Amino acid sequence: MTFACINYDASGDCCRKLGGECIPGRRGCVLDGQVTLSNELRRRVEELEKKQGKSKD
Ligand code: SF4
Repeated sequence: MTFACINYDASGDCCRKLGGECIPGRRGCVLDGQVTLSNELRRRVEELEKKQGKSKD
């Protein structure tokens, strides 16, 4: 299966909706809660959330 997201900015390789890295399934993504994430995507989402948690400190 392939997926093309209208929020993906190919020229900047980022998500226009969330204003940052495109990691399908991340919080706020159109796929959030809609799909089962691969281990690799889950790892990337966890890394992002750790970074975001640290930046709020
Ligand atoms: S993070 Fe989600 S909403 Fe944003 S561009 Fe990627 S797939 Fe689309």
